Amino acid sequence: MTDNSPRKINIKEYSLEEVKQVLQKWQEPLYHARQIFSWVYKKGARDFAALSDLPQPLRDKLEGHFTFFDLRVAERLESKDGTVKLLLAAADGNSMEAVSIPTAKRTAGCVSTQAGCKFACGFCASGLRGFKRDLTTGEILDQVFLLKDNSPGRVLTHLVFMGTGEPFDNYDNVMKAIRMINAPEGINIGARRITISTCGIIPGIQRLAGEGLQIELSVSLHAADDQVRSRIMPVNRKYPLPALLEACRAYAKNTGRQVTFEYILIRGLNSDLRCARKLCTIVKGMNAKINLIPANAVGECGFEAPSREEIWSFRDFLAQHGVHVTLRRERGTDIQAACGQLRIKYER
Ligand code: SF4
Repeated sequence: MTDNSPRKINIKEYSLEEVKQVLQKWQEPLYHARQIFSWVYKKGARDFAALSDLPQPLRDKLEGHFTFFDLRVAERLESKDGTVKLLLAAADGNSMEAVSIPTAKRTAGCVSTQAGCKFACGFCASGLRGFKRDLTTGEILDQVFLLKDNSPGRVLTHLVFMGTGEPFDNYDNVMKAIRMINAPEGINIGARRITISTCGIIPGIQRLAGEGLQIELSVSLHAADDQVRSRIMPVNRKYPLPALLEACRAYAKNTGRQVTFEYILIRGLNSDLRCARKLCTIVKGMNAKINLIPANAVGECGFEAPSREEIWSFRDFLAQHGVHVTLRRERGTDIQAACGQLRIKYER
């Protein structure tokens, strides 16, 4: 028998204004919108029966039209260092990953924006199985909620869009999710604690500059010249390095915000001092930071991290030449916390 009932919508798809519009259509008092938001975002309700200050008929209507979650936790892994990785499954069989990473002072959540990815960066497990589909705003927010629920004793203080997928390739859904994450009536995480990470989609960077949001922009650079970058990041053929750097300079200038460049150090490819020198040249004068990340061994990608000595001399070279540089500590290696690793294992 076919189910002809309309598909229920994730309540997190709707902004406060949109919930008010639904109430107006139902001829219900608009003040219930704030009550609903408060239950969903502040009081930890996980079903409509919990909305005890709403009249029962309205709860029934909500139940008939909306769901609380589109995603379910298929697997939860916890590392010795407290990193929690969730494999999340959608009803259509697609899966994605979300991770929470605690440090002494903060806990960052890392969420996915697409099921699979079109961009096929050579060092990334997420691109290995191709692109499936964009995630909805509700599915992006589900990840934040499920990370909160599955990281007991932790408060998510920061959020990064660095999981599977390219955020600017799903721009509208991601931006709507960011506004709900940032909104005082929503999850209420400060804009400066939200980072969007791109593989270098220039129109996305330009569009973000006009949003008037104080969020952090992080760009996957990973090479200091077109030749090496095109080898490991096919997107560089469409948006080559000089144009990308120009867009980043304009972004930093127009928004007054620092740009972070992610640079994965890969043995024998981009980790010698000649590369470090080129890197110093191309970021010169820009309000930018370089975040070095030793390559994470993804079996099927075949890239390895350089030696500890090589990593440190690369870092020191940049610092000595006046570049703001940080070196990312590896987290959750015992639970395959690098982007896409668990999903690949699950879909094998
Ligand atoms: S690094 Fe990002 S853009 Fe590149 S393949 Fe992985 S998920 Fe896609």
